[in-house]
Amino acid sequence: MCRALAADGLVKGTAGNVSVRVDDGIAITATGVVFAEAVADDVVIVGEDRHLVLGHLAPSSELDLHFAAYADDAVGAVVHTHAPAAIAVSLVSDRLPCVHYQQLTLGGEIEVVPFSVFGSPELAETTGDALSSANAVILAHHGAVTTGRDLADAVAHTALLEWACDIYLRARAAGDPAELSPEQQADVVAAAVATGYGQKHEA
Ligand SMILES: [Zn+2]
Repeated sequence: MCRALAADGLVKGTAGNVSVRVDDGIAITATGVVFAEAVADDVVIVGEDRHLVLGHLAPSSELDLHFAAYADDAVGAVVHTHAPAAIAVSLVSDRLPCVHYQQLTLGGEIEVVPFSVFGSPELAETTGDALSSANAVILAHHGAVTTGRDLADAVAHTALLEWACDIYLRARAAGDPAELSPEQQADVVAAAVATGYGQKHEA
């Protein structure tokens, strides 16, 4: 999965980390892992008390950010990348408006949290707060974090967020982007519920 993120251009070099909830804590990529070459030994298991349960390498420096995301019991996996379109959005806006109905899978409008230094408690706190009501958040001058019920779900959310950011940037370059109204979003959610289309957070 790490290699897939690298191949998609969502992670450059060591810039990114993923984790999955396991019985005794979270399994998370170690610090300094090159995603394009990631192997099983590059993942460690860390308990709630931050002690290494399994593995030899130091966990990602964004460990606190990952744990903050797991405050939501529905979250089974977390993906953090330095995805370029998400970063570009963070430079021109404090939010990604709901420009496409598929964004409702992520929670609709996506918040851009203010810049905090990587690995800092402040970054973990603002990110955790934003993820309490959405499956995605953009970190200003930094990247993006998405959550999912499992790793495949969280990775799919990263790809969807990057796609929506790209659409928004294209529209902004051409004019003032329109966004889906709350009524339109509610209609989509109602249709999704009626047809059983997967939704975690309603708009
Ligand atoms: Zn980062």
